[in-house]
Amino acid sequence: MKNMFKAFLIKYGEIGIKGKNRYLFEDALIRQIRYALADVEGEFDVTKEQGRIYIECLSDYDYDETVDALKRVFGIVGICPVVHVEDEGFEKLVEEVTAYMDWMYPDKNTTFKVSARRARKNYPLDSMEINRELGGRLLEAFPEIRVDVHKPAIMLNVEIRQKIYIYSEIIPGAGGMPVGTNGKAMLLLSGGIDSPVAGYMIAKRGVKIDATYFHAPPYTSERAKQKVIDLAKLVARYSGPINLNIVNFTDIQLYIYEKCPHDELTIIMRRYMMKISEHLAKESGCQALITGESIGQVASQTMQSLAATNEVCTIPVFRPVIGFDKQEIVDIALRIDTYETSIQPYEDCCTIFVAKHPVTKPNINIIKRSERNLEEKIDEMMETAIATVETIVVE
Ligand code: ATP
Ligand code: MG
Repeated sequence: MKNMFKAFLIKYGEIGIKGKNRYLFEDALIRQIRYALADVEGEFDVTKEQGRIYIECLSDYDYDETVDALKRVFGIVGICPVVHVEDEGFEKLVEEVTAYMDWMYPDKNTTFKVSARRARKNYPLDSMEINRELGGRLLEAFPEIRVDVHKPAIMLNVEIRQKIYIYSEIIPGAGGMPVGTNGKAMLLLSGGIDSPVAGYMIAKRGVKIDATYFHAPPYTSERAKQKVIDLAKLVARYSGPINLNIVNFTDIQLYIYEKCPHDELTIIMRRYMMKISEHLAKESGCQALITGESIGQVASQTMQSLAATNEVCTIPVFRPVIGFDKQEIVDIALRIDTYETSIQPYEDCCTIFVAKHPVTKPNINIIKRSERNLEEKIDEMMETAIATVETIVVE
């Protein structure tokens, strides 16, 4: 019965999208819908008319796959599968709608209301008349069913257009705003659980995502790098294509290891990650950084440590999971399907150079003093790291 749906009506939030913003919002939403459907088998036409977005299914298509893809598009509040019928007179319409109700709702012990909309004004009945007539005929056809005009269990929408559109289901969408409506930010993407979730959460607010991964070969393997690419791919299912920068961080890490107190390694390393990420962010027009940090999760995420890493940044740093417990982050990771990939056991550069007893309350002045040991070569090393970045478009 699923393949009786020949179109989808897309519902989206309309708060704050008046005037010019509305166009931007709708155009971005259409672009993201097309992107999401590109990989789905079937041919689709996405159009905007009279403040609504329709997806017409021009060929056979996989219903479940299509709905899943649409559920990943930020900005969609509801997905309504639509049945098309030809306009062959009101009697025929009554027949079609009755059949539709019978298919969709085997249990008739429920309430409904007809909500007609006459987009084509030459239809002989106006919307009030359609509501009344159709409602009455359905009551005759299904003695058990009742009308509830205030809180119907089934809102039966009938839209008179060139064809007649019938729909009553609303599948919840991802919410948020279409990617591309709120600027761009640089995600520090590691192979862990938290950073893919952080990227997802900011993309959900309409922000386009670029990403940077710090790779430390041979201490971190090709497989660890591939894992990050795989994670970027999973985030891109929601955010659209991601430019993933892979920074070779080995020399900088070894240099810090050689020159600085080992209990400060993680903090100093993280400060250089932030600096390089900010440089790459500015280069590619990103207005902020994103990390997967959460207060107190590890030594490098205490309030003092966060202050120490934040201190090198001049653009905003978004930490959307800052107040989340690990389990709450895991729950999102499971929902967006990044968890299984994140828990694959490949080392990352932070764990390899980690000290046994890292400082948990770094003092910025002491950290800065340690960093003076790096003065001789660090600028050149950062330049080299930036000049040798490998950028992959992940989609
Ligand atoms: P995650 O699960 O995201 O890896 P984590 O709990 O392992 O986080 P840390 O390793 O302290 O925490 O990293 C904190 C944040 O710093 C990460 O969420 C990520 O944004 C960034 N980060 C850490 N390591 C890297 C890396 N190798 N490349 C890019 N970003 C990194
Ligand atoms: Mg990590």
